[in-house]
Amino acid sequence: MAVIFHLDLDSFFVSVERILNPNLIGKPVIVGGDPKGRGVVAACSYEAREYGLHSAMPIRQAYLLCPKGIYVHGHYEEYERYSHLVKEILLQHTPYLEQASIDEFYMDFSSFHYSVFKLLQISVDIKNDIQINLDLPASIGIAPNKLLAKICSDFNKPNGMTIVVEGKEEEFLRAMPIKSMPGIGKVLQKELNDKGFYYIGDIAKTPVEFFSAKYGKAGLDLWKKAHGEGATRLTQHVEQKSISKETTFQKDILSLEKLKEVLLKLTGKVAQNLRDQNLSVATISIKLRYSDFVTVMRSRTIDPTSDDFAIYDIAQKLLSGSYKRRIGVRLIGIKLSNFRGGYRQQNLFDAKEDKRKKLFDAIGKLRLKHGYKAITIGSVSGHKKEED
Ligand SMILES: [Mg+2]
Repeated sequence: MAVIFHLDLDSFFVSVERILNPNLIGKPVIVGGDPKGRGVVAACSYEAREYGLHSAMPIRQAYLLCPKGIYVHGHYEEYERYSHLVKEILLQHTPYLEQASIDEFYMDFSSFHYSVFKLLQISVDIKNDIQINLDLPASIGIAPNKLLAKICSDFNKPNGMTIVVEGKEEEFLRAMPIKSMPGIGKVLQKELNDKGFYYIGDIAKTPVEFFSAKYGKAGLDLWKKAHGEGATRLTQHVEQKSISKETTFQKDILSLEKLKEVLLKLTGKVAQNLRDQNLSVATISIKLRYSDFVTVMRSRTIDPTSDDFAIYDIAQKLLSGSYKRRIGVRLIGIKLSNFRGGYRQQNLFDAKEDKRKKLFDAIGKLRLKHGYKAITIGSVSGHKKEED
C-alpha cells in the first residue's frame, strides 16, 4: 500500500515576509503589489482571509474589502531560497521527494511499512524541523495516494496534520464540498452545483456513465477522484544525493577526543537513516569549520556499507587527518553519499558480518518502536557513550 505525504507551507509568501519583517506578524498582510494596480493577490495572511480575501483575487477588489491591510510587493528570490531550504530539510527525512510547487512537496513513505503512529511521529518531526530551523509553519496530509494527501494537507490548515488510512478514502471525501477537489474550479463548480452535485459524495454515488457521457475522460477521472483514487507514485522521483548531519557548537571545541565523540553521535544518526531507507553508502565525508569560518571537507570512498562502525572508522580517520590547526572548531558534520541498495557486507564469508546485520536489524526495530534514543552505540574504542 502506498503512503504519500503532502506538505504545504502555510501562507508561505506571507510567512517569509514575516521573517524578513516581524512587524507584519498578526496583521492582515497581502502579497501582490500595488493595491490600486491591476495585479492579483499572490498570497494573503489568515488575518486577511477574515475579510474575505483569497489568493488569485484581483488586488483592487482585495483593497476594497480590506483597505487597512498591509500590501507588500514580495521578495521572490527569498521565497525561492526558503523553498530550497525546506527541500534540504525534507531530504534529511526521505530521498523520495517530489517538489510540486514552490511551497508544496510530496514524499513517498510506502516502502517502510510504518504504523500510523510512526507516520504521525515522522510528520510531527518534519513540521518541527521546518518550524524550528526556518520559522515556517506547514501542514501535512498523509494518505494512500497523492490526490488524497493533497486534500488532507488542506483539511486542517494552518499548522495541520491529517491522515486518511486505506479503506477510508470515500468516507473521508463524502461530506466535502466539491470545490475541495483539486481540479474543480469556479466554472465547473457552478455547473456541477446546477446539476445538483454539492458534495463529493454526490459525485461518487452517481453512475460513472453519467460523467463519462458528459465530460469524456475528464468525467471518468472526476468520478474516480470522488471515489478517492489517485496516483500512488511520485512523478519526478528525485534521488537523494546525500544524507548528512551536522552540529554547531555553542562554544568552540579544541579537543579531538570531544570532536570524535560528537562525530560518533552524528554517525549513529546518519547510519540509522541510511538503513531505514534500505541503502548502503560508498562515500563518506566529514566537514569541519574552524572558529575563523575556514571550512575543511574530506571524503573517502569505500566498499558500500551500512554499518555504524565501518562508517565511523572512516569518518574518524578523516577527522584526525583534517584537524590540523590547533584552533577551536565551531561546526562538525558528516555526509554520506554515493548510495547503493540494501545492506552490504564487507566480507560475504564472514560470519561476524551476518551477526552484525542481525544486530542492526534488531536496533532498527527497537528504534522504530521506542525512538532513536532507545538504543545507543558506544564508540569503537568503547570508552565513550553516545548521548543526546
Ligand atoms: Mg501553501
